[in-house]
Amino acid sequence: MKANVLKALNEQWNAEYYSAYLYMAMSAYAEQAGFKGAANWLFEQAREEAAHAEHIYEHILERGGTPAFSDIKSPPVKYKNLKDVFAKVAEHEKRVTGMIDAIANLAQDERDHATYNFIMWFVDEQIEEVADAEDLLGKVTLIGDNPGALLSLDATLAQRKFKNPFHKD
Ligand code: MG
Repeated sequence: MKANVLKALNEQWNAEYYSAYLYMAMSAYAEQAGFKGAANWLFEQAREEAAHAEHIYEHILERGGTPAFSDIKSPPVKYKNLKDVFAKVAEHEKRVTGMIDAIANLAQDERDHATYNFIMWFVDEQIEEVADAEDLLGKVTLIGDNPGALLSLDATLAQRKFKNPFHKD
């Protein structure tokens, strides 16, 4: 693997752990604000991000690259309300889409077909991530201050359970 591709992949698996950290922080906020369902959704989202990190890490090793262990930035821990949380989830996922697209561009420029093919899974995944986040943001915006509707949404979010697509168990 070329050094610039390796560097980008190393930055990305760190960024995926940052995403996990960010969603854990949001989950803690939701838990303490009394939204156990949203806390669950965000916690499962964090687990998904950690799985993304592991998947990139494994790709680096498979390609004979050396994984870099950089510091994981601490995430913001204060949020105004659930709408603020989901607005920031949507914003964050759009930023991640930009990072994934940049890796796809780089892999193309470097004629690194293996990395290009690998990162395409993430390109597809980001479509879903952004759509889900915007859907939830739309719902909490619509709900506004209606406690009944908010609790009903919270009950729906309690159902989410992450299944690691990279593991066969
Ligand atoms: Mg991710």
